[in-house]
Amino acid sequence: MDDIDVAIVGLGLAGSAVAWAVSRRGRSVAAFEAYGPGHRRGSSHGRARIFRRAYLDPLYVELTGRAGRLWEELGEQAGERLLTRTGGVDHGPAREPERMAALLQEHGVAAELLDRAEAARRWPGIRFEGPVVFDPEGGVLDPEAAMAAMVRLAADAGAHVAYDTPIRALKPDAEGVTLITDSGTWRARTVVVAAGGWTGPLLDGLVPLPPLTVTQQQVFFFDRKDPGPWPTVVHGETSLDIYALPEGSYFKVGEHVNGAVTTADDRDFTVDPAARERAVAYARAWLPGLDPVPRSELTCLYTSTPNEDFVLDRRGPFVVCSACSGHGAKFTPLIGELAADLVDGRPPIGRFALR
Ligand SMILES: Cc1cc2nc3c(=O)[nH]c(=O)nc-3n(C[C@H](O)[C@H](O)[C@H](O)COP(=O)(O)OP(=O)(O)OC[C@H]3O[C@@H](n4cnc5c(N)ncnc54)[C@H](O)[C@@H]3O)c2cc1C
Repeated sequence: MDDIDVAIVGLGLAGSAVAWAVSRRGRSVAAFEAYGPGHRRGSSHGRARIFRRAYLDPLYVELTGRAGRLWEELGEQAGERLLTRTGGVDHGPAREPERMAALLQEHGVAAELLDRAEAARRWPGIRFEGPVVFDPEGGVLDPEAAMAAMVRLAADAGAHVAYDTPIRALKPDAEGVTLITDSGTWRARTVVVAAGGWTGPLLDGLVPLPPLTVTQQQVFFFDRKDPGPWPTVVHGETSLDIYALPEGSYFKVGEHVNGAVTTADDRDFTVDPAARERAVAYARAWLPGLDPVPRSELTCLYTSTPNEDFVLDRRGPFVVCSACSGHGAKFTPLIGELAADLVDGRPPIGRFALR
C-alpha cells in the first residue's frame, strides 16, 4: 500500500488534464484508468473536437479564452501542435449571430458578422441562409494526442500512471480514501473522480450529485468534394443542433441532441439508422461540398447535467470532475487547472458547484 497526495480515477481528457495540472504543482499523484490509452468506451476517443470561443454565455466565452491560452502552453510543453486554428462559423437563428458576434467582440475576440453572400464566398462547401459569425480563434483539437501528451508530461513529473486498472471501490475515512483495485489498494488524501459516464455509479452514496444523464451519441464521416477551406461549423435552427468539423481527410458531422439515454456499461455501440439518415439529409441540404455518403461512423458518450454546465467541486476528500455535457473537450487543460485549484482548497466556480 502506498500513500499519495492525489489519486485520479479516469484518464479521459478530463483526468489526463488533472494528472498534468496536479503533478506540475509538485503533488505526488497516481492515476488509474480502467482501459487502455485511446479506448473507445468513453467520451474522449478520436482525433478531433471543436475548440471555439463562440458561446452565447459570457462565462463560457471567458473560460474558452483561458482554455485557449493553456492549449498553447500544453502544445509548447509537449512539443507538438494539439490545436489547429481553422476558424469556426456559427449560423442559424438559435445561434443568434448578431448577439453572439457582439458578445465575442466585447470579450476581445476578433469575431466577424458576415452576410450570407460573403460567407458563401469564403466557404463554398457550406450553405448559409442568414448571417454568420466567424470566430478566428476556433479550430480543431486532437484528443488522443492531447491525452497522450498530458499523461506523458504527468509521468515525467513523477506521476504513477496505471492503465487497465479499474478502481472497484472508494472507501473514505478521516484521513483520506482507500482505493480498491484488482491487484491491491492505494491510499490518497484526495481523490479526483474524472470518470465520465461512470461518475454517478462510482460516487453513489459518497457524494450527492446533480442528475447526470448518459446518452449514446453518434458521428458520421464524409469525404470532402470541395477542397476547402473548411472551418468548424455549429448550426442551430432551433437549438445547438448540428456540429461539424474536419477530422483528417474527412468532415465529421454530429447531432448535439437526440442521443439515446443509456449507462456507460449498458450502451450498445450501435449506430441508430434514423440518425444516419438525418446526418445524410443534413449533409445533402447544408454541406454541398461533401459527398453525402458516410464513409465511417462511431458512437460516443455524453454525460450531461440538466443545463449543460459542468460539475467541478469538492466534497470532503473527493473532487468531482464531470466536464462533459457534450462540450467539455475544448476546456480540457483549464479543467485540469480548476480541479487542481479544488485539490489546493480553492473554491469552485459558482455555476459548477455541487448544491
Ligand atoms: C461525439 C462527441 C463529440 C464531441 N464533440 C465535442 C466538441 O466538438 N467540442 C468539445 O468541446 N467537446 C466535445 N465533446 C465532449 C468531450 O469529448 C467530452 O467533454 C470529454 O471527452 C469528456 O472527457 P471525460 O474525461 O470527462 O470522460 P471520458 O473520456 O469518458 O473519460 C472517463 C474515463 O474514466 C475511466 N473510468 C471510469 N470509471 C473508472 C474506474 N472505476 N476506474 C478507472 N477508470 C475509470 C473510463 O474508462 C474513461 O476512460 C464531444 C463528445 C462526444 C461524445
